[in-house]
Amino acid sequence: GVSGVSRHRVAVIAGDGIGQEVMPAAIDCLDLVAGLHGLDLDWHHLDWGSDHYRAHGRMLPVDGLDILAEHDAIFLGAVGVPDIPDVETLWGLLIPIRRRFEQYVNLRPVRTLPGVRPPLADSGPIDLVVVRENNEGEYSEIGGRMYRGLPEEFAVQEAVFTRRGVERVARYAARLAASRGGRLTSATKSNGIVHTMPFWDEVVREALADFPEVELRSELIDALAASLVLHPARYDVIVASNLFGDILSDLAGAITGSIGVAPSANLNPEGRHPSMFEPVHGSAPDIAGQGVANPVGQIWSGAMMLDALGHPAAAAHLVAAFEAALAGGTRTRDLGGRASTTAFTEAVRGHVEDLA
Ligand code: ATP
Ligand code: MG
Repeated sequence: GVSGVSRHRVAVIAGDGIGQEVMPAAIDCLDLVAGLHGLDLDWHHLDWGSDHYRAHGRMLPVDGLDILAEHDAIFLGAVGVPDIPDVETLWGLLIPIRRRFEQYVNLRPVRTLPGVRPPLADSGPIDLVVVRENNEGEYSEIGGRMYRGLPEEFAVQEAVFTRRGVERVARYAARLAASRGGRLTSATKSNGIVHTMPFWDEVVREALADFPEVELRSELIDALAASLVLHPARYDVIVASNLFGDILSDLAGAITGSIGVAPSANLNPEGRHPSMFEPVHGSAPDIAGQGVANPVGQIWSGAMMLDALGHPAAAAHLVAAFEAALAGGTRTRDLGGRASTTAFTEAVRGHVEDLA
């Protein structure tokens, strides 16, 4: 801009349960860090989600995707409540957004944090990223059920992998690996899944020809799952199909200690469409309304948003601030501490100022 201030329009869907608590916490931290870096984040709050579903029978308004398209990024809290089937949230909100905006990369950094004790002893420092293909693969509507209720009943579900889809996620993962430790693990199951997985392996291997500096290993998903539990510190970047990536990112998140700290990004890496940033956790109805939710997953997702909007220094500043808060012993209940969501958020804001 003329004044040197960089302005971004962000669509905010706080959603349900603790989404309503961790979202304001993250926005408070983001506003502070943005001000210090000459950024202006223009928040546009949208009250979509389960209440909207109860009132209108849909998670998003009819023109919801067109409204989102007018924004530079989408910041999501948690959508979903126990009395609405998960499939409504997934196919009524998350999947349409991921597909319309070609958010073909689902990025999940997994890192040991100060004060977050991994459930498994002696795993060593974990610092890896799961790159999940987010647009195609096993999450397909092609298929059906026949002979309902009869002994002959069967169900068919087709997985669809395209050369373009596999190639672009493989290239993204390779670029990421090249910027980190240079090691890329590709999750496969080509011994059992005889059409799509050999195709996945082939396209990934071909895409990697352009990245001689990256060491590619293909690992069978079953062995990889076990190995992630036993030797997580060995992994750098993992690329996986939609289903395998979904499972691996939950597994990888679990071995670091708390679901409350895990962030994610649904990226359209070319920036032609808005990307979406959301914590890995759900609406946590068991603790909603108590003011004890850990806002780190939401704050870290906000840092990923700053990074994707082209502000890596602001992103790093925010990450350093919540790490300092954790290292200083301010922790929410899930991490064995006693700080409320707001007390923890104030600690992060204090460190944002200290680190400025
Ligand atoms: P969803 O189907 O929306 O993913 P879920 O029930 O599978 O929901 P979460 O809502 O993430 O998963 O909750 C799982 C457990 O983790 C709950 O016990 C919840 O209280 C806890 N939890 C999740 N997020 C947080 C958080 N930010 N802070 C503290 N505890 C959390
Ligand atoms: Mg869940």
